[in-house]
Amino acid sequence: DAVAELISIARERESAMFTEAEGKSLLSAFGIDTPRGIEIAVGQIISDDIREPLVVKAISSTLVHKSDAGGVRVGVRRDEIDEVAARMGEQLAAAGHRLNGLLVEEMVPSGHEVIVGAVRAPGLGWTVMVGLGGVLVEIFEDVAFGLAPLANEQILAMLHELRGMKVLDGARGGERADIPALVTLISRLAGPNGLLQSLPDDVIEIDLNPVIVSGTRAVAVDARFVVG
Ligand code: ADP
Ligand code: MG
Repeated sequence: DAVAELISIARERESAMFTEAEGKSLLSAFGIDTPRGIEIAVGQIISDDIREPLVVKAISSTLVHKSDAGGVRVGVRRDEIDEVAARMGEQLAAAGHRLNGLLVEEMVPSGHEVIVGAVRAPGLGWTVMVGLGGVLVEIFEDVAFGLAPLANEQILAMLHELRGMKVLDGARGGERADIPALVTLISRLAGPNGLLQSLPDDVIEIDLNPVIVSGTRAVAVDARFVVG
């Protein structure tokens, strides 16, 4: 099937991963919101249905953390794409990476950045992790774990384990995140009929980092699928 084909294509790459666009189309198939976007070759024109502001991301089989190497530019206008691509190509080359193409997508309005990850634990199935993005995860290691398949109540309980849950709930004058939308997203990934349950054994790790959760939406703006 389609996933088996993606896996065999990923195995041919230098690091066995789905491309971001491949991962995102799989997420969409399970009803998980992702930004509208298109993969293009450098110099190619994008269609009008992708609306500004745009995000331009490097497609490179050797690059894992795109922004570390200058591989992500947010807030780009349509007429700036070529210029951004040229800079990106130079920066990637300097870091020893090839630029194979661009993923151009709509820039999702700002919100809380949440990390959702899953790792296959031998004999246990999928271990699911959720945390708040940025410094909260990196410095405070504010994360919660659960085992898939997760019921909605379990997902909500995991979110309430986070010290940062207050922030999601709109503490300190921040925007209140759409928690039901986030629970739905996690359920479509890790629930009883979720994506994780349908993946063949070859996929061993998934990272949605970040999911942007605003007052009205939860959108996976990055997707990494690792093939073992
Ligand atoms: P990396 O490989 O560096 O993790 P990401 O795809 O996560 O690259 O992009 C880096 C950052 O850019 C994200 O953490 C997010 O803040 C922002 N970003 C990426 N894509 C979008 C998007 N479509 N809309 C809004 N912000 C985005
Ligand atoms: Mg990311």
